[in-house]
Amino acid sequence: MTLPIDPVDLARCVDCGLCLPHCPTFRATGRESASPRGRIAAMRRVQAGEPVDEAFVSYMQECVQCRGCEAACPSGVPFGRLMEQTRQALRSTRRPRPPLVRRTLEWLAYRVVLPRPGLLVALSWVLIPLRRLPGLTGRTAGLRYRAESLMERLQADDDPDVHLFTGCVMDAWQRDTHRAALRIMRASGAHPGLPGPGAGCCGALQLHAGMDFDARRLARAVMRSLPGDDPIVVCSAGCGAMLKSYGELLETDAAHRFAARVRSFAEWLEEHGGPPLRDTGRTVVVQDPCHLNHVQKVAGSVRRVLAPAYRLVDLDDDGLCCGAGGAYSLTQPELAAAMRDRTLAAIRRAGGDGAVVASANPGCAMHLAAAGVDVRHPAELLEAALGASPDAGDGDAGESEHR
Ligand code: SF4
Ligand code: SF4
Repeated sequence: MTLPIDPVDLARCVDCGLCLPHCPTFRATGRESASPRGRIAAMRRVQAGEPVDEAFVSYMQECVQCRGCEAACPSGVPFGRLMEQTRQALRSTRRPRPPLVRRTLEWLAYRVVLPRPGLLVALSWVLIPLRRLPGLTGRTAGLRYRAESLMERLQADDDPDVHLFTGCVMDAWQRDTHRAALRIMRASGAHPGLPGPGAGCCGALQLHAGMDFDARRLARAVMRSLPGDDPIVVCSAGCGAMLKSYGELLETDAAHRFAARVRSFAEWLEEHGGPPLRDTGRTVVVQDPCHLNHVQKVAGSVRRVLAPAYRLVDLDDDGLCCGAGGAYSLTQPELAAAMRDRTLAAIRRAGGDGAVVASANPGCAMHLAAAGVDVRHPAELLEAALGASPDAGDGDAGESEHR
């Protein structure tokens, strides 16, 4: 088996090891094989003709695809691309062939449910009573959406001058965040619209699983649902990174133009100018999602838009991944839990027990909320700090209802 990797990309790694401290799986295990350098060495061995064995597959699957290594690498190794291409090769050659149950669940999640947000909303109704069943409460602890939220559709303005991308998981399970984002956008003087028919999942989960064909199909559907030239605002760090990569993924002028319109929520707010806020006097611990920090490189925007309203505290976690990583907490539960434990300890050091944590990624928010953390999206925190405008609310970070 040959990996469809550009040898020039592989050759860029000079084995310096500067990426190792930035790799959460290396920090959790101490194993070279769980480090970026070790994974690149394994890829090189396969390129040189060594057979793909179970050890190689597990080294690749243990990577949470946080790209902390890419941001730290002085040689510019495009590790995210190397990992995506390796996973595409493993999936297309079906090596190893996963168990039938896993294949069925992946097919249902990636090909049936996520591309159809309406179906995900319908299934979410079913999950509401199941969340309280003994044995399921722990597994679904991060799902805190409200039934009322599922019933209320988001409202678009007439003649929009900006669009909010709603996606799949966030539209079903964190719709209140999108509601808060729309309110903030309006309070900032904008007229937000919503995606047209056919929009669904951005394709990030499929791409990370090696399903590049599905990812491209979903990307084209998202582009069709958001025509025009207006900015596209994305509240999910992972989806925003994906939409920004459509040019590279589809390699068309239209995709590059589309990608240039995409902004993370706080990034857009900073560029556009935000609404009047009151100083809440409250403390918020800021968690940097990897796809905002290492991939989009706009984590600073979150701090700048929250700063007028909150006293912000950073984590001393070296910017390491919290272990959410899309479906990673399901496929690698032990490593995901170890990474989360380190993040939880950093949250306690920063804000004590009961700290309010700002996170701009739904996966991180659910992963941390499942461990009892009070996580809010920056849009919700800003909504709670509206106060000097006629559109103001009166909630605050410690008291407003959360999802
Ligand atoms: S990936 Fe980059 S930082 Fe890591 S060992 Fe290779 S050259 Fe060094
Ligand atoms: S993407 Fe993250 S988990 Fe994977 S090798 Fe790089 S730093 Fe480690």
